[in-house]
Amino acid sequence: MSETLPSSAEVVVVGGGNAALCAALAAAEHGASVLVLERAPENEAGGNSRFTAGAFRSVYDGVDDLRALMPDLTDEEVANSDFGAYRQEKFFDDMGRVTEYRTDPDLCEVLVKRSKETLLWMRDKGVRFAPIWGRQAYKIGGRFKFWGGLTIEASGGGPGLVEALTKIARKDGVVIAYGARTLSLIADDDGVKGVRVKHNGRTVEVKAKAVVLAAGGFQANAEMRTRYLGPLWELAKVRGTRFNTGDGIRMALDIGAMPTGNWSGAHAVGWDRNAPEFGDLTVGDNFQKHSYPLGIMINALGERFVDEGADFRNYTYAKYGRVILMQPGQFAWQVFDRKVIPMLRDEYRIKQVTKARADTLEELAGKLVDVDAGRALETIRAYNKAVMTEVPFDPNVKDGRGTRGLTIPKSNWANTIDEPPFEAYAVTCGITFTFGGLKIDTGARVIDVEGAPIPGLFAAGELVGGIFYFNYPGGTGLMNGAVFGRIAGASAGRRAAESR
Ligand SMILES: Cc1cc2nc3c(=O)[nH]c(=O)nc-3n(C[C@H](O)[C@H](O)[C@H](O)COP(=O)(O)OP(=O)(O)OC[C@H]3O[C@@H](n4cnc5c(N)ncnc54)[C@H](O)[C@@H]3O)c2cc1C
Repeated sequence: MSETLPSSAEVVVVGGGNAALCAALAAAEHGASVLVLERAPENEAGGNSRFTAGAFRSVYDGVDDLRALMPDLTDEEVANSDFGAYRQEKFFDDMGRVTEYRTDPDLCEVLVKRSKETLLWMRDKGVRFAPIWGRQAYKIGGRFKFWGGLTIEASGGGPGLVEALTKIARKDGVVIAYGARTLSLIADDDGVKGVRVKHNGRTVEVKAKAVVLAAGGFQANAEMRTRYLGPLWELAKVRGTRFNTGDGIRMALDIGAMPTGNWSGAHAVGWDRNAPEFGDLTVGDNFQKHSYPLGIMINALGERFVDEGADFRNYTYAKYGRVILMQPGQFAWQVFDRKVIPMLRDEYRIKQVTKARADTLEELAGKLVDVDAGRALETIRAYNKAVMTEVPFDPNVKDGRGTRGLTIPKSNWANTIDEPPFEAYAVTCGITFTFGGLKIDTGARVIDVEGAPIPGLFAAGELVGGIFYFNYPGGTGLMNGAVFGRIAGASAGRRAAESR
């Protein structure tokens, strides 16, 4: 991109992640001139989307749908896998259940019903997908069995996704400006007319017929986190980009947009206790520690504090970050023994990991930094006694192998912790994205405080409120950004075309 920004574009897209780039592609389909304003410099561009593993939660009715999306799937791979199906009803159920039935029904319907066609649209544009062999399937009797409704990832993960979308956008004539921080919207009674942008140290105006906001949530803004999520949230680590500081939300509220959704809620996970303050692209999402359903978690008091096996990790990981943040010292240790160590996800084997290893439980308890060792030992022993060893262990289903008689039960996948070596991993809270944001309608039009659409303003992705509450089914963030990014871009592109 040249040193100066154009003074106008028919459609301006604010943000440079998955939602923004999908919006840009859709707007370009309507023949609009499209300018993407990405706050980050090019080497850090792509937002949270680039930090992901690229997992997409989409409806599929069986292997034929997957073959349509992933034509590279071989007959042998299909024969060796039990992909099952993830039907609309199940996606609806999952969204309802994890959000405690608060998800906006209209937006949720669009998300679910347009998931599959949106992935096919992306594939037609040139994005490639693959099954998530590594993380979402266990090999049983020589066959991969997929579980938890999450089967598809973008090839090359988040970096591959952003690279592909960027390449396609450029090929389609979209102009991408990096280091271009949008400061505010230019608007009057007739709607949005453009944006003010800080680029190369200068504040300039770019006129537009339509603006799509896709600038992420406010998770990287410690002040907003504390203001909206509550005390202690300033102490959370940010899993992804440092650039999502709530700008898009703020600039829309400034012109009268309606805030909606779970403003005190966020997606937050167990994250290495010594990870840096913001995400590190060389490590990506590997600071996360998602194998806790196979073990137990112990806090500074030496006690368990949550049902680690309440559900598949896909349905608990996004809310357990908050639970860890609320523990004394904002940390916990995840504890495993020899039986499950080989099953731990790859992220446990990176070198930037806070880990203790021992051959006896006494030794391990002593190595759990900042923990009451005596109490930790008692907790592990009491847990071991409570495990229903008569129920077979099966990580592919909710096996009902729980505990008996503990104040805090473990409901599934309870294995005794009694075979050396023992390993423990220290985690704190890593925030992924915030749930509260702007109100949009099913056409991705931003709604104002009177309930009317703001002419010329569209939004998609993390900064939209009303879709996620309390919790989140894994892989829905990218799907949400793609579905509504595409709709927002198409709406913006149509508006530009109509006013030509
Ligand atoms: C470590 C990690 C792993 C994850 N794994 C998955 C996964 O596997 N599957 C899944 O579905 N979700 C995952 N998520 C969640 C997912 O990343 C988000 O839900 C999704 O990427 C949001 O897309 P977005 O386009 O709305 O935001 P982003 O991709 O964050 O894009 C926002 C963009 O806005 C830009 N921006 C911010 N302010 C301004 C401004 N003032 N002007 C211009 N630009 C601005 C930012 O630089 C950024 O490029 C993960 C998140 C993290 C952090």
